[in-house]
Amino acid sequence: MKNKIKLLGIIAIVAIIAACDSGTNDPCASGHTFPSWIAPSCTENGNSVRTCINCTQTDTRTTGYAALGHEGLTPGVAATCTEAGSSESGNCTRPGCGQIVTETVIPALGHQGLTPAFAATCTTAGNSQASGTCSRPGCGQVITGTVIPALFPELGHDHIGSLICKRIGCNHQYALGDLGPTGGRIFHINPTGFTVQGYSAGTGATAHLNFTDIPLIILKLHQ
Ligand SMILES: [Zn+2]
Ligand SMILES: [Zn+2]
Ligand SMILES: [Zn+2]
Ligand SMILES: [Zn+2]
Repeated sequence: MKNKIKLLGIIAIVAIIAACDSGTNDPCASGHTFPSWIAPSCTENGNSVRTCINCTQTDTRTTGYAALGHEGLTPGVAATCTEAGSSESGNCTRPGCGQIVTETVIPALGHQGLTPAFAATCTTAGNSQASGTCSRPGCGQVITGTVIPALFPELGHDHIGSLICKRIGCNHQYALGDLGPTGGRIFHINPTGFTVQGYSAGTGATAHLNFTDIPLIILKLHQ
């Protein structure tokens, strides 16, 4: 009987210890324990998510973790159409960094929106360089390039029997909408890219050209 009571007593104590264990051993019972945030440096982001050291609960921040960038550098200079620029440079003054940032040259951008170089024809001047008015905001420079004078301004094109002008150095080719040899606009070329066999003046603002079936490659041999 005494032994039985002793045994019951031991069981009771074990039960109480077990109950205490399950009640007090949850380390997150009174809140999670998160590690410190990792601070961002000049070049590295910090962390935006951290996990409780005792369970899998996470904590998230949406600001304050992005890399800070170096501090105290000499600002860069933007490149323009004609002048090279430079990146920021110098010694970072942020405590713990002190990195030396070397200057990088940013090449000049070149003008934009110019008309590409184009060949002269018998009747119209060409240009051996891109030309026109630069469309880059803040520039607007007018570039004349190098003008190539018209090749035969007094002779005009020789389109007799040919879709492509036969004068050496000119590659003028009739296209729809051009002013035709008899005046008026060309509204019909058939078949496209073949030689003129003959043409007839249209009435009013149109002209009609008819072509043989001689391929362009033969026309080029005539030039
Ligand atoms: Zn926790
Ligand atoms: Zn720095
Ligand atoms: Zn420009
Ligand atoms: Zn020509």
